[in-house]
Amino acid sequence: MSDAKQPGFDTLAIHAGTQPDPATGARVTPIYQTTAYVFRDSEHAANLFALKEFGNIYTRIMNPTQEALEGKVAALEGGSAALAVASGHAAQLLTMHCLMQPGEEFIAARQLYGGSINQFNHSFKSFGWNVAWADADDPGSFRKALTEKTKAIYIESVANPSGQITDIEAIAAVAKEAGVPLIVDNTMATPYLIRPIEHGANIVLHSLTKFMGGHGNSMGGAIVDGGNFDWAAGGRYPLLTEPNASYNGLKLYETFGPITLAIAARVLGLRDLGPAIAPQNAFNILTGMETLGLRMRRHCDNALTVAEWLESDERVAWVRYSGLKSSPWHDLQQKYCPKGAGSVFTFGLKGGYDAGVHLVNNVKLFSHLANIGDTRSLIIHPASTTHSQLSEEQLVAAGAGPEVIRLSIGIEDAGDLIADLDQAMT
Ligand SMILES: *Cc1c(COP(=O)(O)O)cnc(C)c1O
Repeated sequence: MSDAKQPGFDTLAIHAGTQPDPATGARVTPIYQTTAYVFRDSEHAANLFALKEFGNIYTRIMNPTQEALEGKVAALEGGSAALAVASGHAAQLLTMHCLMQPGEEFIAARQLYGGSINQFNHSFKSFGWNVAWADADDPGSFRKALTEKTKAIYIESVANPSGQITDIEAIAAVAKEAGVPLIVDNTMATPYLIRPIEHGANIVLHSLTKFMGGHGNSMGGAIVDGGNFDWAAGGRYPLLTEPNASYNGLKLYETFGPITLAIAARVLGLRDLGPAIAPQNAFNILTGMETLGLRMRRHCDNALTVAEWLESDERVAWVRYSGLKSSPWHDLQQKYCPKGAGSVFTFGLKGGYDAGVHLVNNVKLFSHLANIGDTRSLIIHPASTTHSQLSEEQLVAAGAGPEVIRLSIGIEDAGDLIADLDQAMT
């Protein structure tokens, strides 16, 4: 068969990474609920441990259900390989573990998920990995923050909770000039809306917990290796290029080329830090991903309908949704995600904080909880919850000031969602 025509997104979402089970013919990838795998003989075992041959050893490091998920995520993002892990935060940890030594730095956009801001400001600092903050709206601020110790630049393609669209190409240019990889958290957009590698990203991260799994039932994360970064140029990533003492002097980049980051995150990160995804969760997320395109189309249509209604309602002070023409990010939305602006956005009520609390307490169909990307519509007040560890200044910078309400619009009937918000607003 000629490979001239790539299958479409929805076809890949269903078929990529999976095949009928080689042992049983089961059409759906089974949940390989096992901890370990029998070696053919001692030579096979020795080869697996020395990375001379790929294969299953122990489920902390790999598992066939996890492997199917990795193939699907890598195909949808257009990466060279992927690694699935226990959560989005685990993906962030394992990525930085491959790149950073104590005393080194990375630059991150201030407009990030609150949990990521916390992870970077506190836990990462305790490893000696220092974060410098820049402004996603100002690519020049990343250039200004560069130092000799900078090892990576970190952004969200669509920021949580503000729904702000980041100019990935402009920031990728800064990273390229500096010789450091651009890491893009693509959780909010999913590859259905944005494929960051096509815009210059070198590593794409996911919380699979959100839209990718899509049903609010399983934690997971993924690291996608763009396969497009030269780890040897500049000699700044010794863990990837130098002889590795824990693999008898094996040089990862020399051996694994474009899949080096994904391999390193598995054979060093997962092996030593341990946040493996449960096979059951990998299975649930695989199933959810089959309908990613269908769900994202509906999420985006519903979100635009609800955002337009809110914008026209006199009780509402402002709505920040890049799908609206009034949004300062509308041009970037048209460029980066013309198929839709995602389904997470924020708004403020004229009644301020108190009116927001009243709304959250009175919705019936919306669920008041700390998550996004469920089939169900969700509502939360970030300043008192997901972003509550941030200072007032950080809250405003992250788009989560005291009056801000965040919605994650689900795939119910839009009319029912509007009716619920209408009855709950004072
Ligand atoms: C939820 C989230 C994370 C963290 O993912 P977990 O799976 O909860 O660990 C990271 N980035 C973004 C944008 C998120 O929304």
